[in-house]
Amino acid sequence: MIVIDGSEGEGGGQVLRTALALSALTARPFRVERIRVRRARPGLRRQHLTAVHAASRISNARIEGAALGALELSFRPGAVRPGEYCFDVGTAGSTTLVLQTVLPALCLAGGPSRIVLSGGTHNPLAPSFDFLAECFLPVIARMGPRVSATLERAGFFPAGGGRLSVEIEPCERLSPMELEDRGPIRARRARAWVSALPAHIGRRELDTAARLLDIPPDGLRLEEVRDAAGPGNALTVAFETEALTEVFCGFGRRGLPAEAVAEGVAREARTWLDAGAPVGRHLADQLLLPLALAGGGSFRTLEPTQHTRTNAGVISRFLEVDFAIEPADGSTWRIEARARS
Ligand code: ATP
Repeated sequence: MIVIDGSEGEGGGQVLRTALALSALTARPFRVERIRVRRARPGLRRQHLTAVHAASRISNARIEGAALGALELSFRPGAVRPGEYCFDVGTAGSTTLVLQTVLPALCLAGGPSRIVLSGGTHNPLAPSFDFLAECFLPVIARMGPRVSATLERAGFFPAGGGRLSVEIEPCERLSPMELEDRGPIRARRARAWVSALPAHIGRRELDTAARLLDIPPDGLRLEEVRDAAGPGNALTVAFETEALTEVFCGFGRRGLPAEAVAEGVAREARTWLDAGAPVGRHLADQLLLPLALAGGGSFRTLEPTQHTRTNAGVISRFLEVDFAIEPADGSTWRIEARARS
């Protein structure tokens, strides 16, 4: 059994989710100890627990220790069963992070799947629905499986209650992919999500983003959400390039002016724009697992985060793949997945 120290490196939920995803896919059991021990609220939170149960449902796994606050867990998967699944986080916890856990195995399963996930769809510190639908899934689709996501209802912290559905047409194996050059930027878009808050918040975010990032008027969209369970505000900015579409996201909160929300998103986007690498910081840590499953591939990105380095380490425990992470030039890095010889 593979034993993972959940506190290693970044030491967050991703260590657990990556282990669950790869355990389900490879049918190799694992135990994880010291889950999120350095976090203010250590152990399994609701979103992590939902991910554990989701991975166990799709792979018919036996689990021990799956409880809120648990610091240890063991997971013994059976065979992966594609099909129809509903997973409900039960709080505003991120649906897209739960999806990360089951997607790899279902992309390589023996038949199609449809998953409905309930919870948060636009959460700080997690992929937004926009990032998932416009950036991550299209990149995955280029590796073989056909995957699409539909936002049925937006869900924001703290009310949650969002819903997204994901359709997966699997493939037999993922193809290696190279994302070395970004190519020219073809389109720039911004989308302001506003639920149960004055629309001027979204308009001010769009105006500021347009000014700071040269987004044309026909690229601006105000999404006045009428059916969410509670208030919320998010600003997403997308850049369509020859290589892929990158998406950046920021969140409004009480006391933070709309202009400051847009300035924060613009700063992150500007760092990526100036560096010239196709893959942004968040996509980088999320691309490692599919590349490892493909048995190879490479991309150019910004300086790797702790998430990226830690994720590379966890993946290499399950798969015979290593990652070379090296500076490419002054401001970009190159990451290559290589089958272990
Ligand atoms: P923690 O234990 O820190 O509470 P967690 O379970 O909430 O952890 P992390 O381990 O921090 O989650 O993993 C977060 C994931 O969300 C990472 O894959 C990261 O790249 C991704 N992510 C965070 N912010 C964004 C963003 N703005 N856009 C896309 N992806 C994001």
